[in-house]
Amino acid sequence: MNFDVLTIFPEMFDGFWQHGIIRRALENGKISARATNIRDFAEGRHKVTDDRPYGGGCGMVMKPEPLAGAIRASRKRLPRAKTILLTPQGRSFNQEIARELVKLKGLILVCGRYEGVDERIGYDFIDDEISIGDYVLTGGELGAMILIDAVTRLIPGILGGIDSAEKDSFSQDMLEHAHFTRPRMFEGREVPDVLLSGNHAAIETWRMETSMIRTFLKRPDLLKARSLSSSEIEILKKWCLEIEKIIQAQPVCGTDALSGGE
Ligand code: SAM
Repeated sequence: MNFDVLTIFPEMFDGFWQHGIIRRALENGKISARATNIRDFAEGRHKVTDDRPYGGGCGMVMKPEPLAGAIRASRKRLPRAKTILLTPQGRSFNQEIARELVKLKGLILVCGRYEGVDERIGYDFIDDEISIGDYVLTGGELGAMILIDAVTRLIPGILGGIDSAEKDSFSQDMLEHAHFTRPRMFEGREVPDVLLSGNHAAIETWRMETSMIRTFLKRPDLLKARSLSSSEIEILKKWCLEIEKIIQAQPVCGTDALSGGE
């Protein structure tokens, strides 16, 4: 996978390329990545990349010519890449889009600043628009980093365990199970016994159950949208029975009724 980020602040990426999985992916040649300065494609002594908006109003707009020049040069280097504009008006980035993007040969990521880019850049130079959430940032650079990070960790062979990415949250429309590491006792809280039992089937069941509980409590929308396996349905039925038992054990109207509302 080849990434080319077009930005007026390429230095923002210096640290990003140098750490963790991104660094390893670069060293192993699993990805190539560069941040290109849009200013290099601006005309004149001052290399201006922004101008006032037609029609008046506050803020500045990114001029089309430097952006067009930067995108064209990038496309020459990466002819099969998709050009994506980071914008709060794009489709909302998620794991499914990351899985879609990792199949591509390359990504040219265009980072806006100020009030955004001249609308005409969208007409002929942009293949897709992506937002990283319903909030407005000052520039597209952080969004580009998020996208590169999420896509890179899906490249086969990037993560330590063969199946780590497959088990991550959202990979199967569920949140991932709980994790524990040493020490066994931490500030009075113990690691669940089952994880120390060596019983792999029991550990798998426990993981599936914690994954379902977390998804149910934190993101019930994911569970509703998912087609459940038979073992998952059994887990839900078991919970229903347990909940039913708790309800049955209660006085008809609950304990607050017994206290007479005092
Ligand atoms: N005036 C624009 C609007 O209301 O749609 C927002 C411009 S924003 C201040 C400047 C740049 O930051 C955008 O061009 C875009 O590249 C980036 N940006 C801001 N929020 C973003 C988001 N949620 N997702 C992706 N990029 C974002």
